Amino acid sequence: MESHLEDRDRVGVADAVLLEDFTNENAFVNNLQKRFDEDVIYTYIGPVLVSVNPYKELNIYTTADVKAYEKKNFFEVPPHVYAITDTAYRSLREENREQCILISGESGSGKTEASKKVLQYISEVTERKGEIEKVKNKLLDSNPVLEAFGNAKTNKNDNSSRFGKFMDIQFNFEGNPVGGNILNYLLEKSRVISQAPGERNFHIFYQLLKGATQETLSKLSLKRDLGAYYYLSNGERSQDFNSNDLANFNEIQRALSTLEFSQEVQNDIFTIISAILHLGNVGFSEAEGKAVILKPDLVETIAKLLNCDSEKLQLSLVQRTIETIRDVVTTPLDRELAIYARDALAKAVYDRLFTWLVKRINRSLQPSDTRRISVMGILDIYGFEIFQKNRFEQLCINFCNEKLQQLFIELTLRSEQDEYQKEGIQWEHVTYFDNKIICDLIEEKHKGLIAFMDEECLRPGDPNDLTLLAKLDKQLSYHNHYISHKKADVKLQKIMGRDEFRLIHYAGAVTYNVKSFIEKNNDLLYRDLREAMCSSSNSILQSIFTESEQRSKKMPETAITQFKNSLNNLMVILKDKEPSYIRCIKPNEFQKSGVFDVEIVKHQVTYLGLMENLRVRRAGFAYRRTYELFLRRYKSLCKDTWPNYRGSAKDGVQHLVCSLGYEAEEYQMGKTKIFIRHPQTLFRTEDAFQVKK
Ligand code: ADP
Ligand code: MG
Repeated sequence: MESHLEDRDRVGVADAVLLEDFTNENAFVNNLQKRFDEDVIYTYIGPVLVSVNPYKELNIYTTADVKAYEKKNFFEVPPHVYAITDTAYRSLREENREQCILISGESGSGKTEASKKVLQYISEVTERKGEIEKVKNKLLDSNPVLEAFGNAKTNKNDNSSRFGKFMDIQFNFEGNPVGGNILNYLLEKSRVISQAPGERNFHIFYQLLKGATQETLSKLSLKRDLGAYYYLSNGERSQDFNSNDLANFNEIQRALSTLEFSQEVQNDIFTIISAILHLGNVGFSEAEGKAVILKPDLVETIAKLLNCDSEKLQLSLVQRTIETIRDVVTTPLDRELAIYARDALAKAVYDRLFTWLVKRINRSLQPSDTRRISVMGILDIYGFEIFQKNRFEQLCINFCNEKLQQLFIELTLRSEQDEYQKEGIQWEHVTYFDNKIICDLIEEKHKGLIAFMDEECLRPGDPNDLTLLAKLDKQLSYHNHYISHKKADVKLQKIMGRDEFRLIHYAGAVTYNVKSFIEKNNDLLYRDLREAMCSSSNSILQSIFTESEQRSKKMPETAITQFKNSLNNLMVILKDKEPSYIRCIKPNEFQKSGVFDVEIVKHQVTYLGLMENLRVRRAGFAYRRTYELFLRRYKSLCKDTWPNYRGSAKDGVQHLVCSLGYEAEEYQMGKTKIFIRHPQTLFRTEDAFQVKK
């Protein structure tokens, strides 16, 4: 196996740290392109793996490839997701350090595929017997299930994950997988009720309609016709089945069985999916300001499917009950509110079903013996998003990326500093942009954006999106990273709406539109609808709409506060793990192979903070290698060290570099490693080695 230094002329350098001009973004992107053109999709920045989506099957994930990376030294083999995984796995196994693999990148850049490769590698290099094999199959099978319910075709990715995922693989002391646990984040539930032109609803709806037998369909009162369902029609033209819907439906039924979902439970799941489809078709007219259900027999059908009180369900769709201190008041809904209530129900049911699915999968993944478990977590979560119109969801997602950047800064800079300290070598501090100031702007107690948002949402009276914006503008305008319309300069004012504010994120400025912020943050489900769901005998509905929720008088947490809390929990989990980073890049907007769009790639290089990353890495020493490895490779270049050096490896390397004429400022000798400042020094040595060979 080649070292990753060798083929730099043909396919560029395998580690961008070795680029001559490491501050030059063009040079960095050119290097990626050079490699991409040769079907080499992986490149390092030191220990960070950069992956460019090839959009075609490459023959680099075979069992032979797995073998080629198993127990190899990271820097002796070409960059690969297997190298990252193997290094993490060995650190877990041999040094007992818990791991996390953090995968980031835009939609369609290859995050989810990378996460699957990590799992595949682990699955192939660990034992294949009895319980372990069973656990591995469950871990692998959790993916198709989660994708069926959590992924959809978008305009950027035919199989786009619409939720964030942190998956733990739990290992026993022998380093074999014995269990797992999945945390899910922020499902894009608005997709259940509507999709952008050209996009689809979650895969499962299509899979069910395509894959279910005629008998099942008639049990569910469904037709094999996408056009028949409003929630699949985008209000106009429905998207087609795709060629995998049929096969995938069979696949997920099989996977559900592996994950120990009984046939009854599977039926309950599909019943809920069909109820949602029917619910979307419930229309309303209006008489004297009151909503009237157009097809009551459709509601009857839903009530039958869910085995819940039909009258209750009918009423819950057209009226709303509010309990005040003194009494209980029921008011009718107008048509618009009834539609809102119907859609809110569909979204809530689907969202809770998804979370329930994850919990059930986790139950099946629970290890039988929880002693001496260590974990490797894999984070596959939405990257930084900037759209034409940025909404509540983008704010959440971009906030998440700020937090991850914080973690990255903390962990990489810390580990870089730790290593220098551990090795006892001198270096200068690097300056970098610390985005804590932006995290604080968003989440600080009592005076961050989230605090003001919640305050406005929960305020009595009539809070709306514009009163919210006015509050934010008033309270946050002092902050350098918050731009209100008033604060914007003339040029910016032209492009910024009066219902918008702008945040300067670490990755760039994003203008957010406040439309629906209040509604999305409050995330209300009328009590009547909850009660109707509670009356169902469907085992899943019973557990996701509990009576206790009904009785609770406490104000529920807002959506963004729940998200903030789950993110902060995640940070705690990640903080004491050893991180590995995979940064994914998509080469073009068309999901096309062979096309490398320089501008698009540059954009992502900026948002992923890769140049900053490179700068930090290069500020110290570009190259570091243990004495043993360095000596083993280059010993032939000095007569004292060839064929073997009798003393310590460190002494050997000292002899070697003296005879190679290294200047004092070019390198430092640490406790176990040699540190070389500039790549040119190393290239000189490598060239001499190549000539000699
Ligand atoms: P993300 O999760 O970042 O949105 P995905 O992992 O779903 O993106 O990748 C999108 C598509 O790109 C995949 O469905 C697959 O077709 C292709 N793809 C991604 N990574 C690879 C890879 N390593 N090799 C071949 N194709 C890939
Ligand atoms: Mg994905």
